[in-house]
Amino acid sequence: MIEIGRENQFYGFAHEGMQACCTARDGDVLRFHTQDCYGDLLTREDIRRADIGDRAPKFNPTTGPVYIEGANPGDTLAVEILDIVPGARGAMRLTPGVGGLADAVEREHVRIFPIGADGTIDFDGLRLALEPMIGVIGVAPRAGAYDTDTPHQHGGNMDNRCIGKGCTVYFPVGAQGAYFGLGDVHGLMGDGEVCICGLEMAATVDVRVRVIPGRQEGCPIWEKDGRWAAMYSAETLDEAARGARYALLNFLAPRVALPKEELILLLSLIGDLSVCQVVDPLQTVRFSLRRPIGEVRF
Ligand code: CA
Ligand code: CA
Repeated sequence: MIEIGRENQFYGFAHEGMQACCTARDGDVLRFHTQDCYGDLLTREDIRRADIGDRAPKFNPTTGPVYIEGANPGDTLAVEILDIVPGARGAMRLTPGVGGLADAVEREHVRIFPIGADGTIDFDGLRLALEPMIGVIGVAPRAGAYDTDTPHQHGGNMDNRCIGKGCTVYFPVGAQGAYFGLGDVHGLMGDGEVCICGLEMAATVDVRVRVIPGRQEGCPIWEKDGRWAAMYSAETLDEAARGARYALLNFLAPRVALPKEELILLLSLIGDLSVCQVVDPLQTVRFSLRRPIGEVRF
């Protein structure tokens, strides 16, 4: 196993100029030690944004990036999420004027929740079970550059609550070496991430990486237990939803025996169009199969 320590942080995915912290090969298992999205600096409820501003000039520190030998543009990097082990605490913050309920937030407000050994938190008497997920996960894009606040078709800050233990995410490799990284792990988050935070926590994440040569989709594709999904990010929810719908159709069409018309009907029956997040610089939608539809391989 290759361990990538918490000191290896980066703040943007770019087609050119990324510097890898280490190298891995097809089939390797990697262990990422991640900081929370506040750089692990929001440790007490009396800490205010201004207190940590200088020490954490950017948010969403992301662990990596890892150079994957043999991954080239046009290939796919398959990332199997083997495990997510939560840190000791989860942090949340409201900032006036920010997020999907911005008009209702009148003052800065911070909560710190100790995470129990049983994988729950006590939210003011309400016992909530964690469903750990990875907020930022991706590779170098096929063109341009995106900070780690911004999701796009390379992945990044997609905040898809389905990216948890047991799934595999297929990323279109955009640059030689892929430059894979992840961070911004949440203990729990609702679809939409309406106040711009989940239960923000440091974590240890184990993944297995595989290179699938010579083919790729236009955006990240997700799979768990035979259920497939496409994730698409765009300026508006409408554009993101359209992108996700067509991406899943285009992915499945050559892989199932159904005529295209029948597949479209089936997607209307068991395809769920869901919001991942509405609070990042671009918005993310996923289109997911509710159940397996037979043997489908990437
Ligand atoms: Ca995020
Ligand atoms: Ca976050």
